[in-house]
Amino acid sequence: MILLSIAHLTKRFSPHDLPALDDFSLDAEPGEIIALLGPSGSGKTTALRLIAGFEKPDAGVVVISGKTMTDRKTFVPPEGRGVGMVFQEYALFPHLTVEENVAFGLRALDPGTRGHRVHGMLETVGLTPFAGRYPHELSGGQQQRVALARALAPRPALLLLDEPFSNLDADMMVQMHLEVYTILRELGTTAIFVTHDQEEAFMIADRVGILNQGRLEQLGSPEEIYHRPATRFVARFVGKADFLPGRVTDEGIATEIGTLPNTPGLPGGAQVEVMIRPDHIELIPDPMGSAMVVTRQFRGPDNLLVVQLRSGATIHSHQPSTLTLHPGDRAKVVAHPTHVVAFLATRPWL
Ligand code: ADP
Ligand code: MG
Repeated sequence: MILLSIAHLTKRFSPHDLPALDDFSLDAEPGEIIALLGPSGSGKTTALRLIAGFEKPDAGVVVISGKTMTDRKTFVPPEGRGVGMVFQEYALFPHLTVEENVAFGLRALDPGTRGHRVHGMLETVGLTPFAGRYPHELSGGQQQRVALARALAPRPALLLLDEPFSNLDADMMVQMHLEVYTILRELGTTAIFVTHDQEEAFMIADRVGILNQGRLEQLGSPEEIYHRPATRFVARFVGKADFLPGRVTDEGIATEIGTLPNTPGLPGGAQVEVMIRPDHIELIPDPMGSAMVVTRQFRGPDNLLVVQLRSGATIHSHQPSTLTLHPGDRAKVVAHPTHVVAFLATRPWL
């Protein structure tokens, strides 16, 4: 069963600009958590606003729980969609208490059911002791819990969250990631959350969609996105990626750091660019080694090194904090790619 089905959704704010969202399609299963990840201006908020009905698309279809919300003939307004929304700035009502904020969307219920629902929600987000406080008397994390409780109280089929963690400081953010994830799973809520932070997307989401200039470049599990990026943009956006020239031979892809297994679909003789992640590169200290350490960043549990190869190309390498290589030292490079990712070279390099 599909809870949310989006097909070819397109929105252009001005005829002179590229579409803010361009032919966007996505299906979500009940209970699934999907992250939309992309740089600023890539269309993430526009996607959420179109799904929620705050914006009318130029083309495309949105179906929620089997009901058509948007198509050529139909436009259901936000209040008829059964969608909850959590905004970056929480948008709590400052003159209402925590309890009143959470009860806001429940005016249609009789007082008994409403009270029951509100108290259950406050319990779920751990705010029962704060029920009578006003938003300005709460910390950022607590305000966010109120926003979450308010959005979830009407039991929406779908919850949309727009950069919900970006106003929190780092340790609060880590705690809220876990809490929000646990609550969504507990309630079985289908959710789409928007972020520009790749780690956040990987930690919380079942699937991650990468937006670039209004286009969905890839949709897949965090592992697929990281290990098998479909485009160079995705490769670079979800982690550090260096690209080395290679040539497809009978033995595999020949590169400066050795011959790597070929990937399906690349023709013999092709000139390619092979993606190298820092966690795929081992450095063995060796005065005769072909690589020279350029920089070393000590980061506590690990080191991030940049080494220069004979060709002049530089690549990054993650090494344990116990490694004793320093700038100017030479090393042998051993590649351990989990999956080789290579793209046809955009221009010949030989
Ligand atoms: P993101 O949330 O990924 O940062 P947005 O969806 O907010 O991106 O914006 C995508 C593009 O659409 C941007 O180029 C932005 O300037 C443009 N845009 C968004 N909303 C409007 C609007 N109401 N009017 C005109 N342009 C808009
Ligand atoms: Mg945005």
